[in-house]
This record gives sequence, C-alpha cells and structure tokens, in this order.
Amino acid sequence: MAARRRSRLLAGLVGLAVLAATAVAAAPATAADAYDDMRTRWVERLTGGTGFDPAAAPFAAQVAVVDAAAQTAWDGLDLTQPEIWSDLDTATTVEDITEAYRRVSVMALAFRTHGATLEGDAALAADAVAALDWLETHRYSATTTPYGNWWHWEIGTPLELHRAMALLYDQLTATQLADSAAATAHFTPSVTLTGANRVWKALVVAGRGVLVKSSSMLSSARSGVVPALQIVTSGDGFHADDSFLQHVKYAYTGGYGLSFLQNLVDLLALLAGSAWEVTDPAVDNVYGWIENAYDPFLVDGALLDTVRGREISRATFGEHDAGKRLIQTLVTLSEIAPPAEQAWLKPLVKEWIGAAVVRDPLASGPLYVLSRGTALLADSSVIARPALVAADVYPDMARVVQHTGTYAAAVAMTSKTIASYETTNGENLKGFYTGDGALWVYTDDATQFSEDYWATMHPYRVPGTTVDTLTRAAGSGAGYLPTSSAAYAGGVESASGLFAVASYSLDAWNSPLVGRKSWYLFDDEIVALGSGISAAGQTGTGWNGAPRAVQTIVEARKLQATSQQLVVDGTARGTTTLVADTVADPGWAHLAGVSGAGELGYVFPDAAPVTFYRQTGRTGAWNQINTLVGSSATVTEDYLSMWIEHGSSPSNAGYQYIVLPESSQAQTSGYAAAPDVVILASSTTAHAVRESTLGITAATFWGAGTVSSGGSPLLTSSAVASVMVEDQPGGGYAITVSDPTSANSGTIQLELHAAAGAVVSASPGVTVTQTSPTVKITVNVAGSSGAPFRIVLG
Ligand code: CA
Repeated sequence: MAARRRSRLLAGLVGLAVLAATAVAAAPATAADAYDDMRTRWVERLTGGTGFDPAAAPFAAQVAVVDAAAQTAWDGLDLTQPEIWSDLDTATTVEDITEAYRRVSVMALAFRTHGATLEGDAALAADAVAALDWLETHRYSATTTPYGNWWHWEIGTPLELHRAMALLYDQLTATQLADSAAATAHFTPSVTLTGANRVWKALVVAGRGVLVKSSSMLSSARSGVVPALQIVTSGDGFHADDSFLQHVKYAYTGGYGLSFLQNLVDLLALLAGSAWEVTDPAVDNVYGWIENAYDPFLVDGALLDTVRGREISRATFGEHDAGKRLIQTLVTLSEIAPPAEQAWLKPLVKEWIGAAVVRDPLASGPLYVLSRGTALLADSSVIARPALVAADVYPDMARVVQHTGTYAAAVAMTSKTIASYETTNGENLKGFYTGDGALWVYTDDATQFSEDYWATMHPYRVPGTTVDTLTRAAGSGAGYLPTSSAAYAGGVESASGLFAVASYSLDAWNSPLVGRKSWYLFDDEIVALGSGISAAGQTGTGWNGAPRAVQTIVEARKLQATSQQLVVDGTARGTTTLVADTVADPGWAHLAGVSGAGELGYVFPDAAPVTFYRQTGRTGAWNQINTLVGSSATVTEDYLSMWIEHGSSPSNAGYQYIVLPESSQAQTSGYAAAPDVVILASSTTAHAVRESTLGITAATFWGAGTVSSGGSPLLTSSAVASVMVEDQPGGGYAITVSDPTSANSGTIQLELHAAAGAVVSASPGVTVTQTSPTVKITVNVAGSSGAPFRIVLG
C-alpha cells in the first residue's frame, strides 16, 4: 500500500466542498526577467537542456532522432511553391496548418537541441522563421476566418506556434512576435470551455503571456485553469471517487483524462516557480488523481484499456503506449512539483519506469524526459516505491480494479449513467461487450491485450460477460444506457484496501437478457457468480448459426505460444489442433503460460457443462474495428476460450467459477479439492462468499434478504447492497457497505448475526443500533453515489 493513499469514505462530501477563489497576484517588479526565466525553463523542457552528454548513450540516439526529424521537415520545406510542404493542404485543411506549425517546431527543436548536428544552424533557423512568416501571411493571422475543426484554430495550431516561437525567440523580431501572438489571440483570446479543452486554452494563453511578457495573460491563465481542477458531481471530469468521465457517460481516465493530465502538467510546469504559479488549493486534486485515479490503472506500464474508451481500437496506440505517455508526463510533474509532492512522486515514478516491461518510458521520447528519468533511475537517494497492492472501486464509472502483487484484474460494467462502449468517427466499432461485466485479468503475460489483440479478439466473447448471441452490426448499441431500475453497477473495497466486491445488475442492449453478476476479488482468486439470468422470448438465429441463446464467457485468452496446453481435470486437451469440446461437469481447468509466466487456473464449483475452444489462426484487421486509422492488413492470433451455455430463453440460470491467475496446474487442482472460499449464496436474493483464509465474508444483496451459513443466518440486508465483513485480527469486525444502485435515497439496514464489542470507528452516516446479540447498523446512503461506508467494531 502506498503510504499516502487517500480514503474515499467521505468522497461524496469532498466533492461538495467549495474552494475559495484565487487572488490574482500583481506582477513582480522584475517581471521582464521573470518572463525570460519562464521561457528559458520552457525551452529546457522542450530540448532537455544541456545536462546530458549528447554523444553518449542513451542520449545520442535520441539526439539523432531530433536531427533526422528536423532534416526531413527542412528537406520538404519549399517556400517557392503554393504549398510550403507539398504533401500538405494548408489552404483548405486546418489540420494541415497545425501539422505545418508542428514541422516548424520540429526544425526549431533541432536548432536548439544540445549536441544536435543542426544545433545553432543559422540556415535552418532562417528557414523556420521564413516558414512562420509564410504561414502568418497566408494561413493563420489575426484576420483569418476559420473553417473546419475549431480545435485546431483555437488550440492545436496555437500550441505548436507558441512552441516554435519559444524555440526561435531570439531569431524573431518584435514585429514577428507581435503578429504571431495577435494570431493566436484572435482565436483564443481568453480561457474558456471546460475540462481538457479549458486546460488547453489556459496553456495557449499562458504560452502567449510568456512570449509577449504579459502579466495579465499569465494571471488569467492561472485563474482560468482553476475551474478545470475542480471535482465534478456529474458528467465530464474527475469525480469524487476519482472516476474520470468524458462525453458524459464513458470511463476515460486513460484517454481524454490522460490528455487532460498531460496538458495540465505542461501548464503547471510553464508557471512553476514563477509569480503566476498555480497555488489554488484545487491544484492538490492533481496529486490525488495521480494516486487514486492513475496509479491503480497502471499495470506493468500499461494504462488499462478499460479506461481508454474507443482508443483501444487504435493499432499504434495501445495500453502500453498510453502508459508510456503517462509515465513521461509524471517524470515532468515529479520535477516541477512542490518538494512535499516530489518526495512521494519520485519514488512512484521510479517504480513505474522499472515496471514498464513492454515500452521503455524513457526511450523514443523527449530528451527532457530521457535526461531527467535517467537521472532519477541513477539517484540512489530515491528508493522506488514497492509495487502497488490495492483494490479500488469507482462507482461513478462502473469500474473495479485490483493489484494483488502477483496479478491485476479489472471489472468493467454498465449502469444507468455509464454506457456500454463508445464508438465515434468509425472507431471502436465492435466494443459491444467491453463494458458488460468484462473481467480483464493481467498476468505476467504483459502483452495479452496488446499486439493485435483488439483486431483479432472475438467481439462476442469478452471474458466475464453474459451475452445474448444476437448478431451485432458494427457500432450497434454504442452509448447504450439501460433505463431499468434493475440496472446498476457498483461495489465495495475492503477496509484493508486489498480486496473488493463488484456488483452488477445486467440489462442487456436490444435483448430480453437480464442477470445478476458479481465478482469477489481476493488475494489469489477471483470468484465470479451469476444468477437470475433470464431472456424470455429469444427468437431467431445467433451470430454462430445456432438458435439465439445466452452464454457466459469464462475466458477468451490470446495465446502467445502453441505450447500453452489446456488441461481439464488432469487431461490434456491438445495444443495444435482446433478443439471445441463441452465437458459435462469439469472441476477445474488450467491454461499453461509461457515459461511459467501468465498461466491461469479455473475452478468450477457447481455441476455445469463448460465448453472449451481452441482457435488457431483467428484473423482480423484493424480497419474492421477502426475505419478512421485502422489498416486493412490481415493479422492473426490464436485464442483459447471457455464459456457456459445457458440455452435459449433461459429463466433464472446461473453460473459459478473461480479464476486463479498465475496458478500452476498443481495449485489449481489443489484449490479445486480444497478451496479457500465457500459460496454461501448465488441466488436472485444475494450472492455471498466466505474466504476462510482471509476471514472475509463478501456479499451482494440484490434486494432485502438474508445470507445463511450452515443453516444459520449470517448477514441480513434491508436493501440492495455491496458488503464486505472482515474479521479483525484481535476480534471484532470491519464492515464496509455501499449502495451499488447509487439511487437509494434512504438507508441500508444491515444485520450481522454475531455479537461484537464497542465501536472503534464509523463513517459519517452509519448508525449503530446494537452490537449484541447481533450487530445492527443503519447506513444513510442517500446521495452517496455508490461511495463506501465503514464501521469497525471491537
Ligand atoms: Ca485466497
């Protein structure tokens, strides 16, 4: 556990806090020097400064990249033609105007990069300045009428232009500076809009303020960003539970949220150490987001796809690429943060860099990140933080994530406020079930969800989901929000912070399918329970050619090697042949990893058939899921799937299985023979599991009801609830409860059928009615938005 992790118990209240407006400081007497200092530090962050040996590894290679990119841009520049770069159409395509300025920035970067071949090349700088003049004269000035995508006029182009201006500052005349500044002021005169766009606007205004030495611009940028730092209670932005939403109803911490964070860090860095540093108390939220919104979703350098929305369908920007960008951003933040924040950020970033096994976060990036990151790794006074071990529930984005130290897992659900999946601009056309109770298990197989996973995975077989086999058109059901009061998603994390319950009441899109699904994430197992699975009146033929039916997908794993043997109850099922077999009542299954890493065990406690399917050579193409940027090239992967058939028009069907990530075959068969868990209930009243070795009873109540053990009542709830009861080492209990419906405007009355001692601690909103002979508590969950409440009894 990180030492500084914050409790979410009062998260709902924190979200209501009103933060004081910031006073605007007057510019200091030495203002002119201050602007030059800010610009100097800005250029250092762009170029990496001079604190590295450009001839030595690992810097030489990156300096060469800077040189090569600049040379390419320079070679293509032709100021005598109607288009300054012949492959661009800056006359009618605003995206190409941004690209043209980016190329000028690339040229300017080499001009200023320590040890670059082109460093200080006067001809290069002269051409870069000439290109700026050409663009200002022909394409982007204070009198230009915009067309097309507003974002480029108001944000994309000014950011690139300001970057070029900062790098070429000493080469520009006062008139050139003023004209370019007037152009960006024409399109973005002040800080407006919300969320990431507001941060971008503040960055535009701040950058211009530095370049034209305007105290008022810097002040307005500083105060203008503050609204974007606030916690929101609905819609886009960071919520009190550290969920990040974009487009109102999508979990986007690792997509739009990452862009937001990147630009915010750029802005904080630009203003850091100046008279215009952002000092509003709301800036503290940023550090909370690092701990509570990002750290839990970063697994071995991957920023999990389950919070990246439609970006999962981009072949060249997978979860390890997003993670790399996050880590690079944090290298910068850990440099410019106040000392108290640096004290924990640097150990965190050091651990993140070391754990990123697929993409080196320092390579192929800015020299500043490479230089500062290399120094961080070499600094023996900074001890890398231990790997995160924690479970986190995000009711506002219907996500639960856990790191056990051995593996990580994430559950993605849909609720009345969080949609199943997003598709737009032809992206993510087959993410149909990625939010329908998906269980993503991250083992040492670090590229399981990378490489060509999304282009080849079976869109109807998302692990964890219970699905109608109806045929889906590309993009169908995107943005779906169930409206039934029986549709909700939430959960609760343990008092220890290590374990979690995910509770999901499914109401499927365009289908009569409903079901009650829950997951119990313990120390070395994930228990998955389903009940009330009904789909009255299914008709027609499913995607598989069989009559439409309902299936629960236990697994759909990309195979990394043909040697990955599937074994069911001790019998090998072959490694190279296509196998589709249904086992009447398997006790357990085991899928081998590669060299012992990434193996998985599955235990099936109830008597039910399971179908196993090994598909070698499953083909796809990225443009089948992303027509915007996807390639038509055929890609191929092998898969091992397993599922439970519930038949056509099932009524009150169910399932039980346990996933044992990174368990050997012997461990799996041993667990099946003597499991750590007892499944106490899996009905439409409640799901409940007792984890004996941990001393935890975890439950989801789907309404008022009682869970019994051995014929004796154990736990009673008056309403829908996610519950964890942890035996305390010295006796007594820690009880954590939440309202996964986020709609209960009253109370949850909970009775633990055991006696306890005195109250040790209790969240606001929890009332203890009695502690003996049973424990009775009343939790006022009105307005709690699924947040947890806790009471500890001696
Ligand atoms: Ca266990």
